[in-house]
Amino acid sequence: MPSFLHSLSQTVLNAIFPPRCLICSAFYDHDHGQASTGPDVSNLLADYTASYFCKSCREGIIPITSPCCSKCGLPFVSRQGESHTCSECLLEKRYFRKARAFGVYDGGLMEAIHLLKYEKKSSLSMPLSALARETFFQFWDVNDIDLIVPVPLHVKRLRERGFNQALILIRRWAKQERIPFDGLTLYRNRYTEPQTTLSRIERWKNIKGAFSLRHPGRIKGYKVLLVDDVYTTGATVNECARVLMKAGAEFVDILTLARAAVA
Ligand SMILES: [Zn+2]
Ligand SMILES: [Zn+2]
Repeated sequence: MPSFLHSLSQTVLNAIFPPRCLICSAFYDHDHGQASTGPDVSNLLADYTASYFCKSCREGIIPITSPCCSKCGLPFVSRQGESHTCSECLLEKRYFRKARAFGVYDGGLMEAIHLLKYEKKSSLSMPLSALARETFFQFWDVNDIDLIVPVPLHVKRLRERGFNQALILIRRWAKQERIPFDGLTLYRNRYTEPQTTLSRIERWKNIKGAFSLRHPGRIKGYKVLLVDDVYTTGATVNECARVLMKAGAEFVDILTLARAAVA
């Protein structure tokens, strides 16, 4: 179909069936992202999410841009200067090489992740996994990574929730890009309290020793990308990275959809 006919039919369709925002449920005018004048990443955000989120919810999603910690990806409050290693990364041992995230864990992105995880709003898996894919290609290439490993849920939590959100974020595009992923080898050997209610120190204690490998030989020599929905203090991904490095991974990098702006 010629493009003007396509956009005409889209306009007519939108007038009859206006899209409904997956975050706030409001009907909205589909503006095709109205390519923002901000940095590239804002344009990407507009393109990918205009079909799913209203303008106001999109404006509440804040992509992470430099300067940020070159190790853990923490966005610095000051928007001036170069990226460098943050004080937490200088003080605490990081078993991963670098961690990167799409956006700040706040506003629209936090809301969207909560709706997917706790309200089981599965329609959000499409835009959120598209954002995870964009973040992957912003920082890595297909040849940089041998294996993608989602942060596992304990089998009890998996039964309660019915799905692992980390796996949902990568499954579709990892298959398309032919990047192997393994949701079985790394597993949680004990049920832990949800990290959300714990202090920073308690989080590190709570998660220590909570992960094991079914076949440690499966990881040896691999360049691993560990994926999760949110990076808060980094306790969970760091503990997973420790186990993977102990099994002989060449390196472990971290990709999360969101990142707490304050560690
Ligand atoms: Zn909305
Ligand atoms: Zn850091």
